[in-house]
Amino acid sequence: MAKRSIHWFRKGLRIHDNPSLIAACENAEDMKPIFILDPWFPKNGNVGINRWRFLLQSLQDLDTNLKKINSRLFIVQGKPVDVLADLFKKWNITTLTYEVDTEPYAKLRDAEVDNLARECGVEVIKCVSHTLYDTKRIVEKNGGSAPLTYKRLQTVVSMLGSPPKPVPIPSNCKTSVSKDYDQKYAIPTLEDLGKDAKDCGPCLFPGGETEALIRLDRMMKKTNWVCTFEKPKTEPNSLEPSTTVLSPYLKFGCLSPRTMYYRLVDIYKQNKKHTAPPVSLEGQLLWREFFYTVGSVTPNFDQMVDNPICIQIPWDTNVEFLEAWKQGKTGFPFIDAIMNQLRQEGWIHHLARHSVACFLTRGDLYVSWEEGKKVFEEYLLDADWSLNAANWMWLSASSFFFQYFRVYSPIAFGKKTDKDGNYIRKYVPVLKHMPTQYIYEPWTAPLKVQEKAGCIVGSDYPKPIVEHDKIRPINIQRMATAYKNRPAKSDSGKSQGKGQKR
Ligand code: FAD
Repeated sequence: MAKRSIHWFRKGLRIHDNPSLIAACENAEDMKPIFILDPWFPKNGNVGINRWRFLLQSLQDLDTNLKKINSRLFIVQGKPVDVLADLFKKWNITTLTYEVDTEPYAKLRDAEVDNLARECGVEVIKCVSHTLYDTKRIVEKNGGSAPLTYKRLQTVVSMLGSPPKPVPIPSNCKTSVSKDYDQKYAIPTLEDLGKDAKDCGPCLFPGGETEALIRLDRMMKKTNWVCTFEKPKTEPNSLEPSTTVLSPYLKFGCLSPRTMYYRLVDIYKQNKKHTAPPVSLEGQLLWREFFYTVGSVTPNFDQMVDNPICIQIPWDTNVEFLEAWKQGKTGFPFIDAIMNQLRQEGWIHHLARHSVACFLTRGDLYVSWEEGKKVFEEYLLDADWSLNAANWMWLSASSFFFQYFRVYSPIAFGKKTDKDGNYIRKYVPVLKHMPTQYIYEPWTAPLKVQEKAGCIVGSDYPKPIVEHDKIRPINIQRMATAYKNRPAKSDSGKSQGKGQKR
């Protein structure tokens, strides 16, 4: 029987380094690339308008790139198993291909689809290309469980050798496009999805593979920057990003991690002196690999309860604190500026994420990391199930990192890299004219100074919602008690890594 295939794009929104797309094209008389708008995602997670825009831009770009290889992207809406049951019949499909996805919902969804394919006599081909390695192989090599420290991950991947090389772009696609394509399968606009484009923030990082590769190229051309890159030394509050901002592209798979990895390898080969993991750019990709691997096998990885690697901490429920944090109204300008940048632009620096996550949880407000994770999930362009949960556990000292007594100061930390507070002036414009001396602590400015700056603390800008110096030791004590009450044989804690630089 002639091969008629569907390649199902989910993440992996690219034609470069896409082995399952190649498998779909090989010897197929017809290959239909599809993307399913699955109602599960907006129903079960909060997808902010900026990420919707990023996704639609990525789909638009994918369609443009598919056209270059004689194909088109077909968009369909509905529950994947229902949509595919329909399309298998309609297009007389013999083969289904897709990229492996390790998230819990994806695993259930894909198992259901695999069953359907079996019943319909459709062959399923799935390839790993969202991570550098097959996370299953990492787990196997580690004796059946995930490595729980970065060091251990490094040891295990060194046993596996280099990650597979990126595969070429397929050149032999045949996709028949019916007359009803525009009416039935075209890419929707935000308006078609019931959203208002006016609610979007400025588009600083447009979605899509083309933009991803341009951005990668631009970054990799700065060889000196690449070779001296050390994550902890980058600035959380520079007005231009001090790291690559490739995260949204890696999240949606507009950029292959292996393509990025091998670009780095080439640069490192030509420049013998370069930084190394965990702080180098290669090291950042390994952090991603590490958290993907742990997330792929840890039950309830995105929550505290019934999560075997997560310390149980009786966090407070405080709706007012949470809302003030989310809306950038804590009265701490550095924290508020970060949260404003997040809501408006959808990307914030790693150490900025550190600062606001520590502030919300063990540092100041003692609100659960799960609440912070949900807010990040809504607003981040790069919101990623595994990376978001893992990093929130890290920052709240619930897993991976256990030095709960090391707390970021919401006042002093930002000053180190932005003494004049220009970042604050940009993202909290009401403080624009506050003298530098008071920009991180405007409540300490004499009333006359506040009047002159056009910002009265308490009416134009909130008073701090907590006293950092008073609350910090209290919270440290609460954390110490939670740590003491840990069950002796818990997977979480003691034996794992101390403060790792990243
Ligand atoms: P670069 O420093 O240029 O690094 C290159 C790539 O390496 C990143 O794009 C990312 O894919 C990966 N990477 C870097 N740091 C980490 C890390 N700590 N963990 C895992 N992968 C990493 N990253 C996400 O992609 N999605 C999230 O939802 C997410 N949530 C986070 C939540 C918190 C509380 C914290 C502290 C961090 C979170 N991160 C998340 C990790 C990290 O902050 C971002 O990946 C990074 O800041 C993205 O910017 P960049 O692309 O310029 O990174």
